[in-house]
Amino acid sequence: MLRTHTCGELRPLQAGEQVTLTGWLNRRRDFGTLIFIDLRDRYGITQVVVDSTTSPEAHAVLAEARSEYVLKIVGMVRVRPEDGRNTNLPTGEIEVVAQQAEILNPSKQPPLYIAKEGNEDEALRLKYRYLDLRRARMQRNIILRHQTIKFIRDWMSARGFLEIETPMLMASTPEGARDYLVPSRLHPGEFYALPQSPQQLKQLLMVAGFDKYFQIARCMRDEDLRADRQPEFTQLDIEMSFVEQEDVLQLVEPLMTELVAAIVPQKHVLSPFPRLTYYEAMERFGSDKPDLRYGLELVNVGEIVSESQFVVFTQALANGGQVKAIRVPGCGNYTRKQLDELSEVARTGGAKAAATLSIEAAGVKGSIAKFFTPEQTAALVETLGGEPGDLLVFVADNKDAVAGGLDKLRREFARRLNLADPDLLAFAWVVDFPMFELNHETGVWDAQHHPFCMVNPADVEKLNRNELEGVRAAAYDLVCNGYELASGSVRIHDRAIQQRIFDRLPYTPGEIQRRFGHMLEAFEYGAPPHAGIAPGIDRVLALFCDEDNIREVIAFPKTQRAEDLMMHSPSPATEKQLRELHLDVKVEA
Ligand code: ASP
Repeated sequence: MLRTHTCGELRPLQAGEQVTLTGWLNRRRDFGTLIFIDLRDRYGITQVVVDSTTSPEAHAVLAEARSEYVLKIVGMVRVRPEDGRNTNLPTGEIEVVAQQAEILNPSKQPPLYIAKEGNEDEALRLKYRYLDLRRARMQRNIILRHQTIKFIRDWMSARGFLEIETPMLMASTPEGARDYLVPSRLHPGEFYALPQSPQQLKQLLMVAGFDKYFQIARCMRDEDLRADRQPEFTQLDIEMSFVEQEDVLQLVEPLMTELVAAIVPQKHVLSPFPRLTYYEAMERFGSDKPDLRYGLELVNVGEIVSESQFVVFTQALANGGQVKAIRVPGCGNYTRKQLDELSEVARTGGAKAAATLSIEAAGVKGSIAKFFTPEQTAALVETLGGEPGDLLVFVADNKDAVAGGLDKLRREFARRLNLADPDLLAFAWVVDFPMFELNHETGVWDAQHHPFCMVNPADVEKLNRNELEGVRAAAYDLVCNGYELASGSVRIHDRAIQQRIFDRLPYTPGEIQRRFGHMLEAFEYGAPPHAGIAPGIDRVLALFCDEDNIREVIAFPKTQRAEDLMMHSPSPATEKQLRELHLDVKVEA
């Protein structure tokens, strides 16, 4: 080793020892005879001081050194004078008096401040990710990531789970996104798909008898990226045999609780995790991933307003829609402009507009107040629990738009009013998800989660009658603070039932045989009852690290447009590569 200690290690106990430190120059303060340097590595920062009267050569070297130079310092540990101590640094009570200094490698002036966070744009940070990663925040996040994954591996292993790797080059498995394809050299015109998840393989591992499986699995999905998505991400993939839904929930709940206690002890959880059905979550919060750190619940006021004079409301109801509202404390004094902005927020959730009533001591005010009788107004205030100073916010539309609009409004008000405790991780289970989902664009029903979920036995009759809308699956999500953290389900292990589900989905018989024939066949050789789940590690870490975007907890993430700006991918292939792969590329303008 070129060093005897790291930059985070020295304490007054080592005073008087000669040490050798290596690291990057974080900051330099030059006072002429004395130069102070903060030397940094991943363990911390140590102050180095050099005096030109006692160590002229070392002083000359450090006078040359600039930010991010790599240095080697030999010196003596000394307790800092009382007034020079830094209580913010674990090493703040000591300094190293340099006797020798060596520049191991100089550095160009970095395009990012390392010692201090700037607000450079994302592109610069990602292009120079190796510099961005030197920063304290990123170092903390990446270290926390390691600790989290290690904790999970140990915890799962201690409970008899086996980590089994599944291939990257495989056949397509549907998880609701496009596949990334890899052309085959040996099989002209044929492609591998990168896994959207190891779903089919983990189920086949159950058929193989590995009754408790997990994997820290990389998944690849080509989808239009939103802020919290990356084209590749990591999940804790879990599958178990001879279990029911409850067993999966009872495994993951203590795992999460103990993980929080071990890795982010300053945070707390709701215990036990609340459970909501999908239906209830949509009714009360307008979302299947509600943030339970605050109230602002949705209240259906359709009955009260159905006889009102307000055509927007009555029309929505007449068209089979809904009218729902939330009560927002303390926002009754919103200006016209602020009220107009609320419609903008509602629109981001798919609704056409939001309407409001302000409760004042003298009565209820607002441009729509005139459409309601005193009895209707009184009933609205009472049903919503309104008090003077409150704002009542309504959305009238079809069911999905009401849910979407009020979900956005609820989140926006919580943000404005600071209602969410940043140290609370409000985990909750959402159960009884629908089996099928209508794609509004294509008018086609597809699996809401994936086609391998077991149908709720109570809904088999509906399935047989082809009434897909009300069919529930034994499928569940773990949600936290408004994010979906995990999805899972009890799986189908019976060939006939699986075939029946495939038959309801938009696949031709030939396609079913080609894509899923191996699953159907495997189910004929003694498939055990099984179930599983897959918590997303990146999102868990983002919550642990108080980051909004998962790219902050991934060492080398891609941009919103799925590019790697550092290594320049995607990028064109060479002529030779294309020839070997039997590919002819035609780029459309
Ligand atoms: N394969 C599913 C997913 O990636 C998880 C599961 O059902 O276990 O969301």
